[in-house]
Amino acid sequence: MNVPLLDVNAQNLPLEAELTAAFTKVLRSGQFIMGPEVDALEKECAAMVHASHGIGCSSGTDAILLALMALGIGPGDEVLVPTFTFFATAGCVSRTGATPVFVDACPVCFNIDVSKAAAKITPKTKAIIPVHLFGQSADMDAVMALANAHNLFVIEDGAQAIGALYKGRPVGSIGHFGTYSFFPSKNLGGFGDGGLLVTSDDALAERARLLRTHGSKPKYYHKAVGGNFRLDPLQAALLRVKLAHYSEYTTRRQANAAHYSSALAQLPGVVPADPAHCKCAASQDAWLADSGARIVLPVPYAHNSHIWNQFTLRIIGQGQRDAFKNHLTSLGIGCEIYYPVTMDQQECFAYTPDAARADCATAHRLASEVISIPIFPELSAAQRDAVIAAVASFLAA
Ligand SMILES: *Cc1c(COP(=O)(O)O)cnc(C)c1O
Repeated sequence: MNVPLLDVNAQNLPLEAELTAAFTKVLRSGQFIMGPEVDALEKECAAMVHASHGIGCSSGTDAILLALMALGIGPGDEVLVPTFTFFATAGCVSRTGATPVFVDACPVCFNIDVSKAAAKITPKTKAIIPVHLFGQSADMDAVMALANAHNLFVIEDGAQAIGALYKGRPVGSIGHFGTYSFFPSKNLGGFGDGGLLVTSDDALAERARLLRTHGSKPKYYHKAVGGNFRLDPLQAALLRVKLAHYSEYTTRRQANAAHYSSALAQLPGVVPADPAHCKCAASQDAWLADSGARIVLPVPYAHNSHIWNQFTLRIIGQGQRDAFKNHLTSLGIGCEIYYPVTMDQQECFAYTPDAARADCATAHRLASEVISIPIFPELSAAQRDAVIAAVASFLAA
């Protein structure tokens, strides 16, 4: 049985009538830049994540860039970013002229290791961008404590985690800014590129709104150099249709994760990650060796509500992850490596000082071990069983 990593049609086609009506409404309105659909989506999303302001953006990437610009981050500044993330987090820092400083990952939740972030702070450090990777919150108490102690701005990159909770609080509303993406593979997937910036700081919201449209206010009078970072009303109208179903999508992802977690844990050689071994790489390594694990399952922290943008396994042993990938692919099971190369190892960041790229060994190891399997909400029971059977046959081979 073929199981795609993601099936956008399975989610979108049942909504075809509603989506078509939303499209027609915008078509007939004749308004294709900003307007009521963008306003409404901004308000609805901001309410969902408990932020005062939502600012629709052209992509999740542009939302990060806009946040950095609104905070005045630029040449001479340093910004702490996880090294194990999608490129945009670090790329935006570099585009402002600031220097991205790469921080190692936690081997349990894959998020930024805040104790290692503390070691990389210098007098130039202005901000930190925790990423809520794969749909689970980073350690926000630790991030905020570090930020408060060193006067850092906090931009939460929630591209993969809109609606995820940290100790009951929606991610994105904890730092100065939160950013989200509506890229089709994200949990609230649109029909092209789109993103959102949120904040509960009125002055920062006003600054970001100004910069979103070339810094002009009124039109043709430019207070600052901004860009064109607007979200299309067509995209907003279509996303509003899906937003009404969003909590159901999340529930289904969580049910798929629960099913995988119990079924895969029955297989010999499959071990759930041990959250007790998250902070110390040395104890992690010893635990891993003792456990005899060939595959480590993701286990969310109890204080987080994980929304499972990805269900990411670690395949232990030299060459094993690539063998696993080939095995699944040969059986028609979709899978992907998020991410095969950490940011500190990217050619484009070789210009950064050595210190910015030091001490990222856990992330390097994760990049050689991780692989994500299908977790999308519409995954059928038969598809799920086919994925589990494929993992079992890999272990038996
Ligand atoms: C997808 C993603 C982005 C960028 O979002 P786009 O909408 O594709 O620009 C940024 N950060 C992370 C962690 C992402 O996964």
